[in-house]
Amino acid sequence: MKNNKNLNFDSQHIWHPYSSLVQPSVIQEVLSAKGVRLTLADGREIIDGMSSWWSTIHGYNHPRLNQAAKSQIDQMSHVMFGGLTHQPAIDLVRKLVNMTAAPLQYAFLADSGSISVEVAIKMAIQYWFAQGFTHKQKLLTVRNGYHGDSFGAMAVSDPENGMHSMFAQVLPKHLFAPAPTCRRDEDWQDSDISEFRQLLIDNQREVAAVIIEPLVQGAGGMRFYCPEYLRQVRALCDQYDVLLILDEIATGFGRTGSLFAYEQADICPDILCVGKALTGGYMTLAATMCTDKVVKGIASDGSGALMHGPTFMGNPLACRVACESLDLLMESDWQGQVKAIEQQLLDELSPYQSKEGVKEVRVKGAIGVVELHQPVDQYMDWLSDFIVDQGVWIRPFRNLIYIMPPYIINKADLAKLTKAIGAVIDRLSL
Ligand SMILES: *Cc1c(COP(=O)(O)O)cnc(C)c1O
Repeated sequence: MKNNKNLNFDSQHIWHPYSSLVQPSVIQEVLSAKGVRLTLADGREIIDGMSSWWSTIHGYNHPRLNQAAKSQIDQMSHVMFGGLTHQPAIDLVRKLVNMTAAPLQYAFLADSGSISVEVAIKMAIQYWFAQGFTHKQKLLTVRNGYHGDSFGAMAVSDPENGMHSMFAQVLPKHLFAPAPTCRRDEDWQDSDISEFRQLLIDNQREVAAVIIEPLVQGAGGMRFYCPEYLRQVRALCDQYDVLLILDEIATGFGRTGSLFAYEQADICPDILCVGKALTGGYMTLAATMCTDKVVKGIASDGSGALMHGPTFMGNPLACRVACESLDLLMESDWQGQVKAIEQQLLDELSPYQSKEGVKEVRVKGAIGVVELHQPVDQYMDWLSDFIVDQGVWIRPFRNLIYIMPPYIINKADLAKLTKAIGAVIDRLSL
């Protein structure tokens, strides 16, 4: 009864991601969560396949993350970052500097992934502006990308993916090359990058930076591409003197099998965005890291002030939990966990390749994707009920059923997720 009241109020007053208040969609109330399980208000337990959008890599309600948050609350939850600093921010940036490639020595603590992308774009534009290249204000990227929902981030996300087409008139116009297609380095063909190269050559005067998600394109299509493409992008950025921004907000902290995806291409970006799993999914925090070259470039006309400073910048509570989450990660056997998930996803999802309605099954690290021939959006209402009835939490979008479970998931629970995906495919093809 109480639950119905809650859901009624929710459907009448609260916007959810990409949702309507006129045609509210089916929604579940979560009471609590522990490990890989969510407990719903009606008492049912479901296994989370989404890591709450890539973030809860250690699972929910982790005693060490809880303790970190509690002790930080008793010291100070927040203090402004203008003119003040604190141990949690210092500890966190020290860890980030140590974890990432050696040239990435500087961090801006942002309040969400989208904001870290905004800051990355500002860094790139300020870098050139300060050196007198005021015409270098465009970004070059690839199609099928996703970099966030704020205006600057939208402007470099896929322009035709449906999400942002409405705002096309107010968004700055950037340059889009075709999405990478090469899957394995062995199959590399120069034609994969030729349009990208030509766009860069033709617009070199205007291009400040390239921005791209390394190896895995997330919300823009859950597509994987080969490290050679990334190596080529780095080489072209060097050759034509533009900065390289890597958006590792989804891929960072082990998800693809290396701590950062760029390691698989053996390259280093000039600017790096991280977020999502940074606090283990406890609260919102992201960071934009950069090299000495970027810091010096921004400073070449004087003060070197980077023009950004959110109210909750460097929030101590978020920083303290992030420190604990990174410690947990580095003390764990995350490589072994991700490898085991990858192997099980390959074993259990690959057979679905032959099911009716399936276009492609693909797996990379702890990410499993089933791409269908048809979109599922029109079925989402019964589909989300059906999925919960299978005892799992999976959230398909467009023609994609995909999972990226917490690293701590065990074999039996992961098998329930892959089995549920099979049931969804079968049900959809009826
Ligand atoms: C989620 C995501 C973002 C946006 O992060 P928010 O925290 O949702 O603002 C940006 N880039 C990538 C690659 C993402 O996956």
